[in-house]
Amino acid sequence: MHLFLTGPLLWLLAEAALLSPLLSPRRDVNAVCSTLHSKYPGHLAWDPVSLHGLQTLRGTLEYNAALLDYWNVKSASNRPVCAFFPADAEQVSFAVRTLNAHPSVRFALKSGGHNPNLGFSSVDDGVLIAFRPNSRYAVPAPDGRTIDVGAGAKWEDVYSALQPLGKAAVGGRLGDVGVIGLTLGGGLSYLSAQYGFACDNVVSFQCVLADGAIVEASRTSHSDLYFALRGGGNQYAIVTSMTLKAYDVGDQGMVWGGIRTYTADKVRALLAAVSNFTTNGQDPKAAIIPNFAFISAAGLNLPAALVFYFYDGREPPAGLFDEFDAIPHLTSSTAIRSFVSITNQVLGGDMKGLRFQIRENTFPNMPMPTMSSFLHDHFQKVLESTTDEALTDLVDLRLLTFAVQPIPRGIAQASLEMGGGNALGLAPEHGDRVWVEYDIAWASPLCDEKCPDFLRQTADSVLNLHKRNYAGISPTNYIEGDIDFLSYNPIFMNDAMSDQKVLKSYGDEVYQRLKVIHKKYDPEGFFSTRQGGFHFSQ
Ligand SMILES: Cc1cc2nc3c(=O)[nH]c(=O)nc-3n(C[C@H](O)[C@H](O)[C@H](O)COP(=O)(O)OP(=O)(O)OC[C@H]3O[C@@H](n4cnc5c(N)ncnc54)[C@H](O)[C@@H]3O)c2cc1C
Repeated sequence: MHLFLTGPLLWLLAEAALLSPLLSPRRDVNAVCSTLHSKYPGHLAWDPVSLHGLQTLRGTLEYNAALLDYWNVKSASNRPVCAFFPADAEQVSFAVRTLNAHPSVRFALKSGGHNPNLGFSSVDDGVLIAFRPNSRYAVPAPDGRTIDVGAGAKWEDVYSALQPLGKAAVGGRLGDVGVIGLTLGGGLSYLSAQYGFACDNVVSFQCVLADGAIVEASRTSHSDLYFALRGGGNQYAIVTSMTLKAYDVGDQGMVWGGIRTYTADKVRALLAAVSNFTTNGQDPKAAIIPNFAFISAAGLNLPAALVFYFYDGREPPAGLFDEFDAIPHLTSSTAIRSFVSITNQVLGGDMKGLRFQIRENTFPNMPMPTMSSFLHDHFQKVLESTTDEALTDLVDLRLLTFAVQPIPRGIAQASLEMGGGNALGLAPEHGDRVWVEYDIAWASPLCDEKCPDFLRQTADSVLNLHKRNYAGISPTNYIEGDIDFLSYNPIFMNDAMSDQKVLKSYGDEVYQRLKVIHKKYDPEGFFSTRQGGFHFSQ
């Protein structure tokens, strides 16, 4: 009898010993979720399709909403064991202290959910801290000069709150993007040539540190942290709210802008106009986002172009967009509109619901006609590559675009003047550059590995094209700096793919400075080992 029982018992014990390393992470994550649920019952939802889901049936809507609201639909396949929806810094601090007691548990921070890199604001089998439902406030100060913004707000919340005052903040060009992710990566805005990047216009951040302490980071308090949060990403603290500067915009909030679409035969003329705009554009109130698109379906690849135009006034001064105006367009929505409506433009926001990847290349804006010739070679290379690729899949619908975003030295100047310098390290004396953003959107899960690889190869092939044929050519308005380095750096974090070495691209001095700050604020690697993002190990 005794012996008979010993066999199965031993077997069970052996099995438990073998499985326990696998089970304990799940036990730990359950413990974190249970603790958060006990302390803040109305702020946590277990995965509704898990056994625990029955405990928080009322949170099912919030849990599902958090998963549905990702720009890259694929992010929703990362299912957190529970989602926590904090309302303030104290609740975040409690969550951090609870997570600290269970070091094996992974987590993710979600503001607007726009970052397409898998695992940056989504987590499988971990804890999702999603700010949107309970921290989405945007409240202007009584004098209208600043606005307090919660970590769950999107830019549309900020712009809607400021529109009645005829004001705007320096933020995303699409209202659906989250305020925190965009700001931590720098933040390129329609207003950047006037006021710098979004991060240059943060008066203060309220943050929770890796040990749960709640601090304010500003020019005068934790100024090292304040520096790192402006372009350095998510490796130093959790931001629970920010105070941002607000500016009068247009004529009592009415500005000029819209989208024009063009047929492929206009691409050469558009590329030349983009290059001239970057070099000679003297009016900081003007901005453009030129996009070149390749739509593949049924083995065909159709190129097209569209340009977003913006002017911070009722209409652009005569002559400002002459070169663009001379190019016949297919459709145009340019008009006098509210700032809010410009940032909710249809073509800018209707791709939600697809699978998505993004990558960035930085190039010097070379003198004409060299720049025009490079951009044309660049376009041709992407056209060839997307045409070949279209033939390999006759079923899926794919859209690859690249946007040539002008970064004239005026943006670097405004950035220094407004913010006193940030982690990106742009300097006016380095001359004019362009940040080229590559996006691919696709429908079929079958392309989840191949499509991002294809985007990487395509973007790398044009980078190599530049290095082969145009290396060493100074950018326009260049005064000084290491041409070899600044031609291809910094990589813009907000448009970067997870394998890109963004922090290194800020230059060795900034990289070392950020590393020291990181060591000070995150000595145990709470932020750098337990969540996604651009890490120092890259
Ligand atoms: C259609 C589209 C338009 C875009 N337009 C612009 C633009 O005009 N200008 C521009 O600069 N960029 C733009 N971007 C890029 C965008 O800024 C980045 O993808 C950014 O990371 C998104 O921020 P989010 O808050 O929405 O993202 P999320 O996916 O929620 O988060 C992004 C990152 O921020 C971290 N994070 C989130 N919340 C917190 C927090 N509370 N504390 C600390 N870290 C946190 C996350 O860990 C994650 O690494 C655009 C992207 C898309 C897809």
